[in-house]
Amino acid sequence: MTTCSGTEVSRLSAPVAVPQRPGEVPQLAVTSAELRQLSAFLDGAIMDAGVRHQLWRGWGLCPRHSWAYVLIEIERAGGRPFSATILLEDLLARAVHRVRVSPTARLVVRGLRSRGSCVTCDYVAISGRAASRTEPGDPVALELLDLHRSSALLRESWSLLQTVVCADCGAGTGPACRLHLLRGGALRSRAELSQYLDELHARVAMFLRSMTWRGPEVGPAEESSWVEAMGWFYGWAVVLAVTTQPTGGEEMQGASDRL
Ligand SMILES: [Zn+2]
Ligand SMILES: [Zn+2]
Repeated sequence: MTTCSGTEVSRLSAPVAVPQRPGEVPQLAVTSAELRQLSAFLDGAIMDAGVRHQLWRGWGLCPRHSWAYVLIEIERAGGRPFSATILLEDLLARAVHRVRVSPTARLVVRGLRSRGSCVTCDYVAISGRAASRTEPGDPVALELLDLHRSSALLRESWSLLQTVVCADCGAGTGPACRLHLLRGGALRSRAELSQYLDELHARVAMFLRSMTWRGPEVGPAEESSWVEAMGWFYGWAVVLAVTTQPTGGEEMQGASDRL
């Protein structure tokens, strides 16, 4: 399996902030090949049955590409991340089931480990080095010169989320994120994790319904649920990096440059 770090990255491409490991400083930029593949997902390729099975085995894409996917969706389409939330709702339902049926803490952690490669990493590896170069004038990259839209959503969610941030990722008092559980983070109890994920899944499912025709109106707890789900599955580094930067005008542009 090829890791994200094996791709050629150009600073001319989009400053999508994505971490490799929990707590690691987020990296800038995605390549044209990554943008092409993630954009294909947004155009419907993520619904392919084979792709979905690979996403199940891997608990989604790798952390870096999972964050890139949701940020690209928000920056491209504006509004709320519909496609990414469909996947998060699906994965959370499976995580709840996995925790419930695992008889020991060790098996809970084992069940949350990725057993499949990242679809985007695979695509980049197959397409080769040339395809990974950022092409000048790439129309998708040009739309992603900053993270204004996604930064705004993350900041709006922050006041509700500070207490649920993984203590190993940041200064929160929430449950260990999946990445830290896999690295020996404390699992308080299976029952507590099951209850937490079940409640989070319910809010994500309601948020998803709110984006459909005649869906219910939802409040801040649901509006922020996708951020919390991303934090639990893929670590909180991106959220912490965005929400601790200054806001407004030129400062905001500078913040996205520094992520
Ligand atoms: Zn990946
Ligand atoms: Zn964590």
